[in-house]
Amino acid sequence: MTAALLTLALLAADLRTPPVMIGVVLDDASRRTRLSATHGIEALGGRVVHAFDEVLVAEVPRGAELSVYRVEGVREVALNALARRSGPRSPGLSAWNAIATIGQLGENASGAEPLIHDALIPPALDLDAAGATVRAATGGTNLNTSEYLAGSVSVTIVLLESDGTGDTSTENWSADREAAVVAEIAEGLEWVRLREPQAALAFKYTVIPGRTDARARTRYEPIRRAADPGGTTGEDLWVKEVLGKLGYASGDRFARSRAFAAARRAVDGSDWGLTVFVVDSLNDADGKFADGRFAYTWIGGPHVVMTFDNQAWGIDRLDMVLRHELFHAFYAYDEYGGSGCTCTEHRGYLDGTGANCTSCNASALPCVMINNGDAMCASTRRQIGWADLDGDGVLDVVGEDPDTFLDAMASTWCSPPAVSGLAAVVAPTNRNPSTVTPRASISINEIVGVDVRADGGAWVPAQVQGPLPTAQRRFAASLGDLAPGPHRLEARAVDDRGNLDATPSAADVVVAAAAAPLGDSMRGERTEAGLLRFTWSSVPGAVGYRVLRAGSPQGTWSAAGETAETAWTDAAASDGYFIVRGIDACGVEGSDGP
Ligand SMILES: [Zn+2]
Repeated sequence: MTAALLTLALLAADLRTPPVMIGVVLDDASRRTRLSATHGIEALGGRVVHAFDEVLVAEVPRGAELSVYRVEGVREVALNALARRSGPRSPGLSAWNAIATIGQLGENASGAEPLIHDALIPPALDLDAAGATVRAATGGTNLNTSEYLAGSVSVTIVLLESDGTGDTSTENWSADREAAVVAEIAEGLEWVRLREPQAALAFKYTVIPGRTDARARTRYEPIRRAADPGGTTGEDLWVKEVLGKLGYASGDRFARSRAFAAARRAVDGSDWGLTVFVVDSLNDADGKFADGRFAYTWIGGPHVVMTFDNQAWGIDRLDMVLRHELFHAFYAYDEYGGSGCTCTEHRGYLDGTGANCTSCNASALPCVMINNGDAMCASTRRQIGWADLDGDGVLDVVGEDPDTFLDAMASTWCSPPAVSGLAAVVAPTNRNPSTVTPRASISINEIVGVDVRADGGAWVPAQVQGPLPTAQRRFAASLGDLAPGPHRLEARAVDDRGNLDATPSAADVVVAAAAAPLGDSMRGERTEAGLLRFTWSSVPGAVGYRVLRAGSPQGTWSAAGETAETAWTDAAASDGYFIVRGIDACGVEGSDGP
């Protein structure tokens, strides 16, 4: 094999090499340190996929792992999992261990009860009362906090702690069990992330432990009560109370929870926001609320409710329960018989049907929405937005080509033509028949560049304004020296998913040519009225002609007149010497020689 071929073979191998997952311990838990480290990892071609206050889990290109040590804000890099579930744990470190060892426990559903009616429809929205404010051009409203499962998700984990001021307190969190809950949630979300690379999921976690944070303390002991999601004796009491302490004290629990999720999302700069309320159940006999519930979700968000034990699923399988509940928040249906599912019901951003419902489909596959298992059916995928219905090879929710709009520009150019304009992402159409949240069409894509070209030539990058990608960006470019004559200029936007504007914005312009010399076509005659009249042939590049006069051939030439025609009569009737020069579109005189 020649050296060149060997190099090519190595290059091809590199392209196929999957990225390396690493755990990164930060210098401190500050937002500033986290952002600094995140940007440093991105500069190495990596991507943070789980972000905790003090730990980042990132995918980095193979070979770049060691460079992460030098990123500002990074204290330690873990290339392999630390020992699972041993020693004192921070939530982030525990989560990294769970993510790094995902799938190694061989978890299954044995011995556990199925979920029962765990997907709940929240009360109808009163949009006026709810105050649906539009976020950005293609960002939906503050009420659209979990519409389709792609991009970044802010996950806020509230670990409720009873303070004994109302109900008798029978449960008390410990640091280890808090960390275990966070680790299991992260493990469940990592499982979800790995199911669809095109969704490019990333999660940002905020943990609010009632043990150490008074805002998550409640006068009730939630596990001793019914969850009563439809009434006022359970969730309504403690969710409202805790969200009030977190600063969301107006409206019912849904209004508060939606506002909280939207605010967490805004702080993190995420695409979506979801809150998971976890109720301690260690000392409870069955790990269930008094009404038998142990995990459920409000469809379309804004939150999930779980117990520590999740009945007999246990803390080690909380990840399995969580991923099922997450899908509900993003509009997935249940598929188990007891859920009341039908094979014709349909909803979700891409309007997916419930064809895998076991009640009506005898060959339904044992998927995640049936028994929290390890398989994902096509039905669920479409309900949460993971479908390529237009067949362009990209999930529809992130697959819309961006638009490009050239500003109005001069049709004739005397200097190298310059273009400017706006590039904008295009939101995929929201086809969700559900009215649980406003049916806003939302794009999570970002403009990362604009290409320009002349006459079908090679695309070259334009300058785009602003340091960060956004849904809309202005751009400007010069097309360089183009030969005189007509040209077609084009611009196309490029987004962060690699979508290109397939119908670039175009403008037809003319680069002015210099007026050609008149040569010897000029003729003079005297009219009947005795005036001098000149005629000449038109020349390329001339939009008009200037007649110059001098008293002698060596004298000073001065303008005697201008015309757009190819004839001119000297009204001054003055004798002298005359020449005519073409004037180009830029007002420049041509030469008068042949
Ligand atoms: Zn369910």
